Amino acid sequence: EEDLLIQSEKLSVVGQLAAGVAHEIRNPLTSLKGFTQLLKSKLRDRESNFIDIMQEELDRINLIVNEFMTLAKPHLIQYSDKNVKEILRSVISVLETQAILANVNLVKDYDENLPIIYCDENQLKQVLLNVIKNAIEAMPQGGDIRITVKKKGTEALSIQVQDHGPGIPADMMERIGEPFFTTKADGTGLGLMISRRIIDAHQGTFRIWSEPDRGTTVEIELPASGRSRQLQKY
Ligand code: ADP
Ligand code: MG
Repeated sequence: EEDLLIQSEKLSVVGQLAAGVAHEIRNPLTSLKGFTQLLKSKLRDRESNFIDIMQEELDRINLIVNEFMTLAKPHLIQYSDKNVKEILRSVISVLETQAILANVNLVKDYDENLPIIYCDENQLKQVLLNVIKNAIEAMPQGGDIRITVKKKGTEALSIQVQDHGPGIPADMMERIGEPFFTTKADGTGLGLMISRRIIDAHQGTFRIWSEPDRGTTVEIELPASGRSRQLQKY
């Protein structure tokens, strides 16, 4: 319990920092991107390769700043009643190409008659995008990723994303979700931190199980609409 509290304290500090910094970084970044574009058109082939590298690096800064912006914009959050199947359909359509390229099969296992969820659609999409993307990235050799959506009692819903990747070693498990903790060359290490934070705001729970060499399962539990609408008032 105490750990959870400390963690959310940390997150709000990060959120506040993000609000100021992300905004300040974005404008000069846009102008840099524009001028490198202009330069590229004036350079020879060999030199213009350097511009390509500069632009990739600028894109990378932009990616990190955008992920930070998510933390910094609580006022844009809009809750409404949504069907989780619809949200998953749109997320899966975004990730389809990446899955095909990785030889990954997204296997859907959905209960019928799922409860409606009171949620911020874009934020929930972002969480599922992060989690399914992590699962695909964990299986570069391909295979099945199972996405299970089940009713939990009468008042909640559970979404599980199960991969058969290398899993997360026990000593690394405690660092997962720490800002900037990543084992990927091109990772930001912000995805899981943001996901946890979003699910907390939805009064849900976010759990990760992992077994080395067997794979990883992420479970997101969300309260059904009637229940969470009451909770939102507090
Ligand atoms: P990023 O994906 O940018 O690295 P995340 O916060 O999404 O940032 O994930 C942090 C780290 O957690 C990853 O770098 C990886 O080491 C580990 N991780 C997350 N999901 C999985 C998974 N499904 N299988 C194995 N490792 C994972
Ligand atoms: Mg990620």
